[in-house]
Amino acid sequence: MSPDFTFKLLMLGDASVGKTSLTHRYITGVFVDSPRLTIGVDFFSKKIRLDNNKSVKIQIWDFGGEERFRFLLPTYSKGSNAAFFLYDITSHKTLESLSVWIQIIRKNAGNIPIFLIGSKKDLVDHRQISFEEASQKADEFLLTNHTELSAKTGENVEESFQGLTELLMKKS
Ligand code: GDP
Ligand code: MG
Repeated sequence: MSPDFTFKLLMLGDASVGKTSLTHRYITGVFVDSPRLTIGVDFFSKKIRLDNNKSVKIQIWDFGGEERFRFLLPTYSKGSNAAFFLYDITSHKTLESLSVWIQIIRKNAGNIPIFLIGSKKDLVDHRQISFEEASQKADEFLLTNHTELSAKTGENVEESFQGLTELLMKKS
């Protein structure tokens, strides 16, 4: 049966921040230690049922974070409903590239909700970015939400996608 709603989510951020791991964790419920490098873009989808018995299909477009794949973004981001921008809390430079990514998203996908997500929360001992610093960035760029999560332990993964679905349902 076709779903009542379909949402397209862009998974964005620098190489190695954990986009594929997060996608995989959400779709399958497990953490894979070394996912293969994403070449270009990979597609995943998951169907969920809401409390009101409506079915929602979430399509995840997992982009290769490397510079050489960025040319794909303008074309593939058309028609998306939301974006997750991931930075790695243990690597300061992964937050610094946010402004560049935001420009690309705004130019090609318009004013869609963007969730700022600090990944690898299990590695707090190696933290280079405080929650407050990233929250300020989220405010500065008028992003929809800011959270930290771990694809490895699963902490906050379900909640983040739940927050996304609820927001998109409200908008549709
Ligand atoms: P991508 O390039 O953004 O898709 O990043 P990957 O998902 O390929 O992950 C890059 C590396 O970070 C891999 O070695 C993952 O195992 C690791 N990684 C991803 N998520 C986590 C996490 O939540 N915790 C830890 N400790 N490592 C992670
Ligand atoms: Mg990847």
